[in-house]
This record gives sequence, structure tokens and C-alpha cells, in this order.
Amino acid sequence: MTDTIIPLDHIPGGETPTRARLEDAPQPERPQRRPPWIKVRAPSGETYEAVRSLMRGKALNTVCEEAHCPNIGECWGNGTATFLMMGDTCTRSCGFCDIKTGRPSPLDWTEPIRVAEAVRAMNLRHVVITSVNRDERPDGGAPIFAMVIKRIRQVQPGCSIEVLIPDFKGKIDALRIVMEAQPEILNHNVETVPRLFKRVQPQDKYEWAMATLGNAKTLDPLVLTKSGIMLGLGETFDEVVAVMRDLAALKVDILTLGQYLQPSKKHLPIERYYAPAEFEALKQIGLELGFKWVESGPLVRSSYRAEQQVRALSQLNYIRLRAE
Ligand code: SF4
Repeated sequence: MTDTIIPLDHIPGGETPTRARLEDAPQPERPQRRPPWIKVRAPSGETYEAVRSLMRGKALNTVCEEAHCPNIGECWGNGTATFLMMGDTCTRSCGFCDIKTGRPSPLDWTEPIRVAEAVRAMNLRHVVITSVNRDERPDGGAPIFAMVIKRIRQVQPGCSIEVLIPDFKGKIDALRIVMEAQPEILNHNVETVPRLFKRVQPQDKYEWAMATLGNAKTLDPLVLTKSGIMLGLGETFDEVVAVMRDLAALKVDILTLGQYLQPSKKHLPIERYYAPAEFEALKQIGLELGFKWVESGPLVRSSYRAEQQVRALSQLNYIRLRAE
């Protein structure tokens, strides 16, 4: 397997002076209390329970539960969920993430079949599928993504497919396996600004994230690419904009921006809450930079309202739904 990575100096903006200039940027004091705009809907209701029992019945994991997503009441209440494949144990240990870290179990090659059955049972028109990192495998588990895409095409035609993939350490051969299955949307979250990678996600590299997004478009120019940034981990507003510029230069189509919320005291602290007006300002900057869609708000997560994004982009003829 060859490790083809876009060299950093080929990433437009990859060597922005902004990065160095902001290394020692002063940080504001940590907030003590949640602001009033962070409000979540309590999980309950018939549809929520139906999704829950389907996941249990098919022994499936969701990032909604494993990552304790604040939107679970809303999303499951609307009959959607984000599937977490390749087990519930991740080989990396990011400081913001609530998914278990450790030595994972062997891959379950029947999992794609069960995920596809759940997609059909939920009658989804759009599905988001993600996974833990499986760095112990040279292919990072990429074939599981390809299998689930193909299986969903068979059992739920018309359903658009978004895969939120690991960086596969920038390996283009692993990425190619996913791209050849032709997902409509290839999502990979950069998560934070380059200065904070070591603290926030020590086993990840900014270059790998950028290579994943850039190479995805090269391998399949029809795919829509998507990425997301968490705010409130100690980055500055200017650093966020610098990352947005890097993503825009790689022709990333969809951007999500949301507030980091500390899952437990063991996780990285919240350095700052962004106000709704700041999310709106970043959204406007993103649209000016050329993103086709920017989902920006305190509770926005990578897969939040993903179906609405796809339908809107489809109406604007930005996306060819291969499933139709
Ligand atoms: S935002 Fe995504 S991860 Fe969170 S509950 Fe909704 S579908 Fe699940």
C-alpha cells in the first residue's frame, strides 16, 4: 500500500503565516456556566424508542449514543441516527471524544448487512455512516465502508449515502476503496486548528485531514466533500477562518461549525462559548469563501440535519444523487 499524501506545501494555505502568528495568542478566561443558548431536547417519544430498540435488536452502535450527542432527542425523535461501524472501541484517544479507546475486537463483516437492514427498516432517504479509527489495520477498515455503501444501494435504493471517514493516515489506497463505492458525500472532520492538534487529537495530523479531503475530490470529482470544526477548544477566531480558507482552497463543499461541549471532567475543558452571532458571522464568512453550504450553530454536529442539507443541495443541482 502506498502512502500518497498531499505534501503540506501543496495545500493551499497550508503554510499560512496565520498559523505561526497565532501560536502564542492569548486565551480568554474559561467560562464557568453554560450559556442560555445551549438547550437540548430530552430524549423521549415513540420514534425515539423505535430507533433505540432497532439499534439494540440489530446490535448496532451509533455515534449519537457513544459520543453522548446533545441532539439525540431531536434526531432520533425524527427517526434519524448516525451509524458507528467497526465496533465501539477506537485506536485513537482524542481529548474531546467520549468513545472508548483501546484494543478493538476483530472486524465483524456482517455489520454492513445489519446496518443496511436498519437503514431499510427506518426507511431513510439519507444516511450518515461513520466509524472508529482502526489503525491496527493497514487499510484502516476502508472495505467495511465500501461494503455498507453497496449493500444500502441494494436494499434501500434512493437513499443518499454520506460517509464520515477516518483519515486513514492519509493513505490514498485506503481512501480509494471508499471512493470507488461512490458515496454521495465524503465527510472528514478536521475538528480543530493546526496549533491545537497535539493537545486535542494527538494521533491525528492536519496534513492527513487535508489530504483526505483533497484526494477525495481528485479520485471522484462528482463527490461532495464535507468537513467540520469544533469551536471552544482554545482556538482563536482568526485561526478558525484560516482553517476555513484551507478547506475552501481544497473545494470542500459543506462545512459544519459547532460548539465543543465537554463530555466529562476527564475530557478537555471548554475554553470559551461562542455566541450565536459569532456562529452567524462565521457562516457568512464561509459562504463568501465559496462553501456551498455552511451549517453553523452552537449545537451543530457533523451529521446534524444532514438530510436537509442534501435535499437543499440537490434542489440547487449541486449534487447528483447516484441512488436515483
Ligand atoms: S447530530 Fe448526528 S450524532 Fe448527534 S444525534 Fe443527530 S445524528 Fe446522532
